[in-house]
Amino acid sequence: MFRAITAAAAAMLLSAAALAQDYPSRTITITVPFAAGGPTDTVARLIGQSMSKTLGQTVIIENVAGAGGTIGVEKVAKAKPDGYTLLLMHIGISTSPSLYRNLRYDPIKELDPIGLITDVPMTVVANKDFPPKDMKELIAYVRANKDKVTYANAGVGAASHLCGMLLMSAIQADVTTVPYKGTGPAMTDLIGGQVNFMCDQTTNTTPQIKGGKVKAYAVTTRTRVKSLPDVPTAEEAGLKGFEVAVWHGLWAPHGTPKPAMDKLVSALQAALKDPNVVTKFGELGTEPVSHDRATPEALRTQLKSEIDKWGPIIKKAGVYAD
Ligand code: ASP
Repeated sequence: MFRAITAAAAAMLLSAAALAQDYPSRTITITVPFAAGGPTDTVARLIGQSMSKTLGQTVIIENVAGAGGTIGVEKVAKAKPDGYTLLLMHIGISTSPSLYRNLRYDPIKELDPIGLITDVPMTVVANKDFPPKDMKELIAYVRANKDKVTYANAGVGAASHLCGMLLMSAIQADVTTVPYKGTGPAMTDLIGGQVNFMCDQTTNTTPQIKGGKVKAYAVTTRTRVKSLPDVPTAEEAGLKGFEVAVWHGLWAPHGTPKPAMDKLVSALQAALKDPNVVTKFGELGTEPVSHDRATPEALRTQLKSEIDKWGPIIKKAGVYAD
């Protein structure tokens, strides 16, 4: 009996080792929990393309949008941990546990971190015909027209939701929010004038700001963004201490074999040094994180500290979703 179990266990170990050695032997899917064409999708496509070169396999992006990104995160949290399904998500993974009373996954326990990717600045933008000319006018206009002004976001738990919540609390106003499945489609409506303003990542807004399709009031980082030198910081525009950067990470379902995780970590680190990624990120107002942050340990620490940071802020704001 003992010998039989040992033999079976040995066979299993051998086949696991063989499987791990072969990894990856087929297409890898990176799930993006927002609509195609938006900021997270753009980051994922650039990273996925580069990782695919390193891993020698196709990497495809699957957009599983809805409920502020929580549907896509849940899908990966419950997926088979075989290294073929990954999640690319941002800061929203740390706000959702406080925003949703009935979240059906635990991002710390059910996902294994691969590494951080980038910290993307945000921009406060509006339809180009929206009356306020600068941030000062925007604040006054929003306060005076609370009942008719509309703010677009990608649902409760999205970065655009978080930025809007912080902005409304900073200027002490509350406006009607219009949720989309991502800021890709929200941007289309903003340009079309169906909605007035939003706060969204430079990875989505830069081309539209530069092309004069939307107007930009401020960037949400402490210093100006190199690719948008004329846009003031929120602080310069009069919002003291207002700062948000959208950190992004890559995860696999909990229990993904270590040999696969090791290869994924290396491929992510190589992607962040890929000149094509660095250049495209730069054109979109962001940059890859430093090598020491593109690690499982750094992402694990980041997620925990961000959940702890946002919990009390969200509680104080009294915002919830079910
Ligand atoms: N990152 C989202 C998207 O890709 C938008 C957001 O989080 O606000 O659409």
